[in-house]
Amino acid sequence: MSKGKILVTGGTGYIGSHTTAELIEAGYEVEILDNLCNSKVEVLDRIEKIAGVRPKFYDVDLRDAEKLAGVFKSGGFDTVMHFAGLKAVGESVEQPLRYYENNVGGTINLLECMQEYGCKKIVFSSSATVYGVQDTPKYVETMSTGGTISSPYGKTKYMIEEILKDVTVADSAFAVTILRYFNPIGAHRSGLLGEDPNDRPNNLMPIIMKVAKGEIGELTIFGDDYPTPDGSCVRDYIHVVDLAEGHLAAMEQMGPGVQIYNLGSGAGTSVFEMVKAFEKASGAELPCRVIGRRAGDLAEFYADPGLAKEKLGWEVKLTVDDAMEDTLRFLRTSA
Ligand code: NAD
Ligand code: UDP
Repeated sequence: MSKGKILVTGGTGYIGSHTTAELIEAGYEVEILDNLCNSKVEVLDRIEKIAGVRPKFYDVDLRDAEKLAGVFKSGGFDTVMHFAGLKAVGESVEQPLRYYENNVGGTINLLECMQEYGCKKIVFSSSATVYGVQDTPKYVETMSTGGTISSPYGKTKYMIEEILKDVTVADSAFAVTILRYFNPIGAHRSGLLGEDPNDRPNNLMPIIMKVAKGEIGELTIFGDDYPTPDGSCVRDYIHVVDLAEGHLAAMEQMGPGVQIYNLGSGAGTSVFEMVKAFEKASGAELPCRVIGRRAGDLAEFYADPGLAKEKLGWEVKLTVDDAMEDTLRFLRTSA
């Protein structure tokens, strides 16, 4: 008997696919909705290999309200895990309307369907970017959000958080859990799932892997003159399997109203330390060159993960070294 039926939007994507595998293994029935703009349908085969069940798949765009209603009409979902969205920060600066339309517009369609068909529990993929610039690098859920966000991408996350809060005010039966991720990295231990974007990546880890594969000549390190111990930027990298488990823990503790949790390790790692961790795991030298700072980068931020530990009993178990090894395994499997 299934423990409940979950619709995972963006479920063929990087974080959604890992979470789907965890949900199935924990006894939930999962259906995936994705328009495949940044993922591949073969991911379904890989989820089936890992979890033993092939999730039902809807090739649907969240912006297509009619098709979306069709999914909910027959769905009977208990909960939605909402990962679907565009996520390239730089691209969002160049194409803000596309980001607002896809991320905010898509979420409004989703919430309208949820309301119409009586599915009132949603777990949303937000980001540490909603905190913007703060006085201290350790971000805690009680800090203000929205004030100093540098990209349209980040603003879509903030706007969606606000929309979700408003929906729970208007309808007290809605339960919303907002998860603010720090920097997800790594891959499934089987090597079957990992980050495999359709477009040229912008994030550090997929770029390191493209350099490792020889598809990009070198890693350009954005600045070594920050006020950090080694001069490069410091981030809180969280293994994607820990992140997936955080979703499960959060979903199982949902109640009415809004709950917000940081999902991060609480520890900072610099870009130079990431390069060293890659070299240790692979045994190969990574070609690197320091160039100037990237516009909009903050020197350092990491999570205060205390609330998730206290309320959800969740904390990270895996390390940056584990993430490097799992990502290299994914690289070999998908080569
Ligand atoms: P991803 O691109 O791998 O997955 C997102 C999926 O959503 C893709 O499969 C894409 O095809 C799908 N999608 C996009 N727009 C859609 C639409 N209109 N209709 C249907 N499907 C659509 O990204 P990810 O890294 O797995 O991120 C998942 C979520 O987590 C995103 O909302 C992202 O903004 C958020 N997030 C990611 C990070 C990160 O660094 N990876 C950090 C913080 C938050
Ligand atoms: N970074 C880098 N070179 C790259 C991509 C990223 O030096 O080609 C650095 C970037 O400046 C940041 C860190 O790696 O300090 C993580 O960047 P990412 O874009 O993955 O995450 P974010 O900055 O959004 O937290």
